[in-house]
Amino acid sequence: MQDYPLALPHIFHRAERMFGSREIVTATATGRERTTYRQWADRTRRLGGALDQLGISADGRVATFAWNTARHLELYFAAPCTGRVLHTLNIRLFADQLTYIVNHAEDEVIFVDRSLIELLWPLVAELKTVRHYVVMDDGKGNVPDDPRIVDYEQLIGDADPVEFRVDDENQAAAMCYTSGTTGNPKGVVYSHRSMFLHSMAVLMADALGVSESDVILPVVPMFHANVWGLGHAAPFAGASLVMPGPDLSPGAIAELLESEHVTVAAGVPTIWMGVLPELADRDLSSLRKVICGGSAVPRSLSEAYREKVGLPITQAWGMTETSPIASVGHIKSALRDHPEDELADLRASQGLGAPGVDLRIVNPETGDEVPWDGKTSGELQARGPWIAADYYNDPRSRESFTADGWLRTGDVAIIDAEGYIRLVDRTKDLVKSGGEWISSVELENEIMAHPKVAEAAVIGVAHERWTERPLACVVPAPGEELTKEEVIEFLTPRVAKWWLPDDVVFIEEVPKTSVGKFSKKDLRDRFAGYKLPT
Ligand code: ADP
Repeated sequence: MQDYPLALPHIFHRAERMFGSREIVTATATGRERTTYRQWADRTRRLGGALDQLGISADGRVATFAWNTARHLELYFAAPCTGRVLHTLNIRLFADQLTYIVNHAEDEVIFVDRSLIELLWPLVAELKTVRHYVVMDDGKGNVPDDPRIVDYEQLIGDADPVEFRVDDENQAAAMCYTSGTTGNPKGVVYSHRSMFLHSMAVLMADALGVSESDVILPVVPMFHANVWGLGHAAPFAGASLVMPGPDLSPGAIAELLESEHVTVAAGVPTIWMGVLPELADRDLSSLRKVICGGSAVPRSLSEAYREKVGLPITQAWGMTETSPIASVGHIKSALRDHPEDELADLRASQGLGAPGVDLRIVNPETGDEVPWDGKTSGELQARGPWIAADYYNDPRSRESFTADGWLRTGDVAIIDAEGYIRLVDRTKDLVKSGGEWISSVELENEIMAHPKVAEAAVIGVAHERWTERPLACVVPAPGEELTKEEVIEFLTPRVAKWWLPDDVVFIEEVPKTSVGKFSKKDLRDRFAGYKLPT
């Protein structure tokens, strides 16, 4: 067989030659912009020429600080297809983390949306390696008068188109930093090969199953773990894209779903919790898949979509370190006639390992593999062609990878004999009570099934006798009132007695991380030293 490089130019050429008329729609502050893969390809080639013109090194890091837009997708290909490395910056990180990341990656240029420049500009003095700031005009925001600033449209308007070719599939194509709940974020570098293979897996019917006829709405940001592979899978398949831009409010998402006849949409659970009430009375007949991952999908949420929208949530599990798709939920044919209750549990699971990914669960103390018996839990470890082997220039790599080359995910899981994964919790979020573990995730999911509850997060609070005990932080649904007793009573038949939270506090909102997950760290800080009544 030919030794053909698995590299992103192939995906680019496919979209350009075969799917030129398929659309990329971007919702901007000033209205919807529509373009096609043909126009996108032409602009992307000129952007490649512009990177040469700016003098970006042959393997230089090209950063983006941007919303989900068609322009951002130009960068997704122009940087790696000219041998450079795309570095998507998380626009919601704290200033010191952003500064750390840009300096650590040694970004040479940052492509920034005009509406975001005011967020970035205060850091500029600290960004040591950045020589140019290219502003992508999305309608609003003050652009400082500075010689390092270049206008995107002018830049590519003046540039000559280039041919894309990458011969070495192991060359770096992109990098992302984990959102880093403790310490500085860690960088993960993806190769052309890893991204190519990951995209192929995303296309598989039993994975995300993206196809040419799809219209995909990635609500997940393009800086969150490669927009879960959709930015590459869409042009690979020839699927249309709907980019939500800066307005991620539930109403705006619901409006895009309906008016653009979206077939596949993807986002974290907090997005889909918010959007659900907006979906009543809308025509969602085109929608065939709602992909959800990044944190656990409560069974109540997946069932609510099934009942109200007519299709359950498709759950996926992964990490920045796994490109990210590592497992996807779908019900095997042999299980389809099982009792509804069992099926609902399967839908709330993290699904089956994606084709190409090896998974194992390991006893953290002995390092021995534990059986897939649906009972025994252990640390989930992963290996495969799109699983990271280390962190970029970071001594912390040692702790996160085993001697025999597996990624230690930091997640605790149970796998059953069919291969279905159930994430018990993140190691650091488990409540360590009297030498046993309590799953904060399971408690939360049960509490969120209460009709009067909007959101709930459970954390461990220091306890003299038991080391830690669970504290439930609950957000009542709008207009509802709820008592501690009601929550405990609701939980009592659903969980082991010793799991029942020692206290319930009512809060206005569960704090969220930069990618919209429940931030247990912020809650732990807020309730550090909290005096439990027991
Ligand atoms: P961060 O660690 O900063 O949140 P990632 O987005 O890479 O960055 O997070 C990966 C983690 O998110 C996983 O290790 C896991 O704990 C959690 N996660 C992802 N998908 C799921 C899911 N479907 N169910 C439960 N947890 C999930």
